[in-house]
Formats: sequence, C-alpha cells, structure tokens
Amino acid sequence: MHRNFYNVEVPYQDGLLLYNILNQAFVYLDKAHKEFYLNPDLWEKDLQKLEEFKRLDFILDDDVDERALLLRNFNFARWKSNKVHVTVVPTSACNFRCPYCFVDFKRPNSLSDLYIPQIIGFILEKLKKLDASYLELNFFGGEPLLKIDFIFKLCDELKKSLPDNIKWATSMFTNGYLLSREYELLRKYKLF
Ligand code: SF4
Repeated sequence: MHRNFYNVEVPYQDGLLLYNILNQAFVYLDKAHKEFYLNPDLWEKDLQKLEEFKRLDFILDDDVDERALLLRNFNFARWKSNKVHVTVVPTSACNFRCPYCFVDFKRPNSLSDLYIPQIIGFILEKLKKLDASYLELNFFGGEPLLKIDFIFKLCDELKKSLPDNIKWATSMFTNGYLLSREYELLRKYKLF
C-alpha cells in the first residue's frame, strides 16, 4: 500500500490538513491519525482506521497506479469530447504594455480578412473529423478588440457556414480598455 501521489499534506497545529486533488476529499487529521497516516508500519495494526483512509483514496493498494488513472481519464475526456475548441489571434498588437507580457511589440502581426475562409475551413474540418456538435471559439491576443471588425466579420461568416446542428459560443481575452465603444455589437455576437 502507498499514500496517494495526489495527496496534499499541510501541517496544522498538532495535526495535518489532507487534501486529495483528484477526488477533492479534504480532512483534518488529529495527532493520532496524522501519525498513523504518515507511518506505513502502523497501517496493518489498525484495519478499521486503514479502511477510513482507503475509502477516501488517501491510501491505495499497490496495484493501483493513480498516475496512470489520471492519464487515462485525461485522454478519455480529451478524445471523447464532442467539443472543438479553437483559439484565434486576430492581432499580436496591443494598446497596453504589461511588464509580464510575452508579446513581441516591436513586430506585431495581424490577420487580414483574407484569412477568414481558411479559418472557417479549418473549423468545419475539425468539427467533421471529430464528429463534434459544439464549437468554442476564443479570441486571444495581443488585444483582440483592436481588430474588432475582423472578429465581427469572422463571426458573421461562420454563422452562415456552420451546419444547423452545431451549437457554438465565443469568448475573448481582453484588457477591456476598448470595450465600451462596441459593447452593443459585442453583445450581439455573445462575446460578453
Ligand atoms: S493587455 Fe495582454 S496582450 Fe496587452 S500587454 Fe497586457 S498582457 Fe500583453
């Protein structure tokens, strides 16, 4: 048996706060339970206590590989999803200069309207290939609001091209500075 790799152990007063990040189990162990939990030599000596820890997956049998289980669940969620998530960067230019930003402001790039058919073609192909019925379209930057006309045009064209059975939603990472100007239009496209 072993302690679950995904347990988070935080000393608190005489005891221990114990949290499992996979199943969200969270308990406070008093001094006696803490000593029991931290010392595998004691586990077989109190089977009732051991069962309490096993029931919440804080202690696992050795044939349980929690890292492999996590990977399997991750892959299952990734490949069995009926969602396609696409991120479009209309421009890497920005009206801010946040000190932590990774963008190269000396050479900003922007997408022209000429790319719209290609983007839509890419989205339609992905939806078909994955047999998906839901599209999440995210605009990232730079500051996407600097290219708001491009975004509206892309959304308009996409609306015309998407099959009726596809549901879709949009979102945007923005510093918000230019929001007020186009607020009504943004509402129309459900960007906010
Ligand atoms: S608002 Fe975003 S893109 Fe603009 S400088 Fe700040 S972090 Fe970079």
